[in-house]
Amino acid sequence: MEKSKIKKMDRRDFVKLLAASAAATAVGTPAARAFSSDAKAKIVVIGGGAAGVSMAARLMRWLSSPNITLIDPSDKHFYQPGFTLIAGGIYGKDDVYMEQKDCIPNGVKWIKDSVVEVDPQKRLVSTAGGEKIYYDFLVLTPGLELKWDKIEGISAKEIGVGDAYCLYDYEGAIKTWQGVQKFASQGGRGIFTDTYTKHKCGGAPKKICLLTEHLSRKNGAREKLDFKFCTASKELYDVPFFTPRLLEIYEQRNIPISLNTRVLSIDTAAKKVRLQTKNADGSKSVSTESYDFLHFLPPMGSPNFVSECGLADTEKLPDEGWVDVDKKTFIHKKYPNIISLGDVSNLPTSKTSAAIRKQVPIAAKNLISIMEGKTPSLEYDGYAACPIITDYGHVLMCEFDYDKKEKISFPLSLMDMSTESRLAWFMKVYLLKPMYFYGMLNGIV
Ligand SMILES: Cc1cc2nc3c(=O)[nH]c(=O)nc-3n(C[C@H](O)[C@H](O)[C@H](O)COP(=O)(O)OP(=O)(O)OC[C@H]3O[C@@H](n4cnc5c(N)ncnc54)[C@H](O)[C@@H]3O)c2cc1C
Repeated sequence: MEKSKIKKMDRRDFVKLLAASAAATAVGTPAARAFSSDAKAKIVVIGGGAAGVSMAARLMRWLSSPNITLIDPSDKHFYQPGFTLIAGGIYGKDDVYMEQKDCIPNGVKWIKDSVVEVDPQKRLVSTAGGEKIYYDFLVLTPGLELKWDKIEGISAKEIGVGDAYCLYDYEGAIKTWQGVQKFASQGGRGIFTDTYTKHKCGGAPKKICLLTEHLSRKNGAREKLDFKFCTASKELYDVPFFTPRLLEIYEQRNIPISLNTRVLSIDTAAKKVRLQTKNADGSKSVSTESYDFLHFLPPMGSPNFVSECGLADTEKLPDEGWVDVDKKTFIHKKYPNIISLGDVSNLPTSKTSAAIRKQVPIAAKNLISIMEGKTPSLEYDGYAACPIITDYGHVLMCEFDYDKKEKISFPLSLMDMSTESRLAWFMKVYLLKPMYFYGMLNGIV
């Protein structure tokens, strides 16, 4: 078993760090203020990931008589932002998870099963194992699914075959690190892509591209490598405060960018990828390109039961099935006793756990308001963050809101954050993971 590459920070270290650091960005959030409610009702949480466990923890803290059931089939709770660090060789494979039983708050009833149906009229949830669970209020946080079947020529199990990699699942991240090391020393042509649907952490494909390029320089092999970065979007990054520096980095590092370009299919035997580019006049051109290393993303969407049960947004991106909520309060547009946040929701911001950290206190308070028969009063401004690793040692810490306006947290706001920094690298590699496991999942930050 591979040894952990990062010195473990335990709960005590983390609390000390929080106390010592003004970087405790929780200061000023509703969490920092004492709050308690006597509201009583049965709450069911679907999905115990970043959003579901954090919501359960907040509600356990804020309700005097909580009655919470959480449904999730997984034994392990993954810190997914760590997948990029595994793929870049910065974290070891055991650095990114905890046992789910140690993450779910004491007092929450855990049903270890998958939800297959929600009947919002009857307030009834059905699981694959045949259980039926009634709720008064539903927290819908099952995250998103990687739709491997929507990409021709490769499946999740085949990641790594024909040097086609994807770090968006745990095993894929481990394999990607093998591929990155080989490519960054032997050389060849590397193609890096994202996908055309909304996807979690839009930064990850860029990060692995930049890390690979830097590793090849560290290996003294850069002149043996050719790079191409393809994005299905019309620009590399859409937050004007950060975009110029990111574009400059790609230019300085000689990584050409192909906009409006998506993967149609992969031929792993021939090591060829078929790409489709939307041209300025609206026409589409298709090219087949050879590669020695490919990093791709599958399309993404909500778990199927969301659309099947009439909970999805049917107007905007209907094929992707995101839960239809009010973008400020997180309350479902049709069913006021359902609240949804995180990756599965149609919130028009980046799908990141950094965004969820800001969503949770607002969602929990708004849910309690409804339980008390009041109108939800807290509003979310779309805050999200994406730490783009630009090399081994630097991160461009992108923080922004619904208006794509930069929204830099204290104490980073004291610095020029339009460029990459060592401090942000330190936060990304050493601080954010303990903050997630011991702070966010405990309902503290
Ligand atoms: C490679 C990668 C890099 C990332 N980098 C960053 C980063 O740098 N910064 C950042 O902030 N974010 C990052 N993210 C995004 C972040 O991890 C997600 O936004 C976050 O985990 C979403 O939380 P969630 O609770 O909505 O979903 P998840 O955390 O995915 O949790 C969903 C949970 O629901 C459960 N579930 C699924 N279906 C069902 C069902 N039918 N019934 C019951 N339970 C179900 C799952 O088992 C899972 O436990 C990254 C993600 C990836 C994959």
